[in-house]
Amino acid sequence: MTDHKQRFEALKARYPYMFVECVGHMQKGWLPVFEELCHQVDPLGGEEAQLHWVQLEEKRGHASWIVKFRNKTRANTLRLLQMSDLILAAEASTAKICIVCGEPGDVDVGLVPNLALCQHHHEQHARGEPLHFKIL
Ligand SMILES: [Zn+2]
Repeated sequence: MTDHKQRFEALKARYPYMFVECVGHMQKGWLPVFEELCHQVDPLGGEEAQLHWVQLEEKRGHASWIVKFRNKTRANTLRLLQMSDLILAAEASTAKICIVCGEPGDVDVGLVPNLALCQHHHEQHARGEPLHFKIL
């Protein structure tokens, strides 16, 4: 098992309630941002609200981490609003982080697909070489 895979599995084991119906693939370079986000959301009552990730994807160069919660009470709606700010900020920050390696990067608008890449991985992408950024 790769280091990224182990870290992602450890995160799931720590917060099992967050991953009850999760699809998509976490991205290697963005794993530290996502780990931090899970650590921030948990103390806000994530488990009580039965907050869970439904989709973890890359979209137009940045992360698209879609979340749902099960217990639709007023308290949980307020919690979700608080969490939304954290989630949006984390997603936005990934546009400046290489999706492959986690080094500072930028969304590469000249190449399709548009990916947030560091200089090294931009060059690899421009040469048409495959980029392996999904944690499978
Ligand atoms: Zn990179």
